[in-house]
Amino acid sequence: MAERALRGSRLGAVSYENDAGTEPAQRQIVKYSCPNGHRLEVPFAADAQVPAVWECRYCGANARKDDAGPPQQPKTKPARSHWDMLRERRSIPELEALLQERLEALRQGRV
Ligand SMILES: [Zn+2]
Repeated sequence: MAERALRGSRLGAVSYENDAGTEPAQRQIVKYSCPNGHRLEVPFAADAQVPAVWECRYCGANARKDDAGPPQQPKTKPARSHWDMLRERRSIPELEALLQERLEALRQGRV
């Protein structure tokens, strides 16, 4: 009895249906641009509320819908210049002293 039921279900597991004559569900493909350069194409139902932001499947960043206007400035720290980095390690008096030292060396022809 159980064996027969299994055989029956096995036959039914193979689908001989094809797409002919079936209407595909109405869909829309929405394109998103990730701030890290990834491109996403996300299918939605035609009547779905399409979000303006979609999580990038590659890096997890917030990808923006292509027609949602100009991309937001990513909130990154402004680039640090060599001077900024120097100022993190040395105070102005220290830099003055270093400058005097180097100038002295220059004048004496030691550089
Ligand atoms: Zn990404």
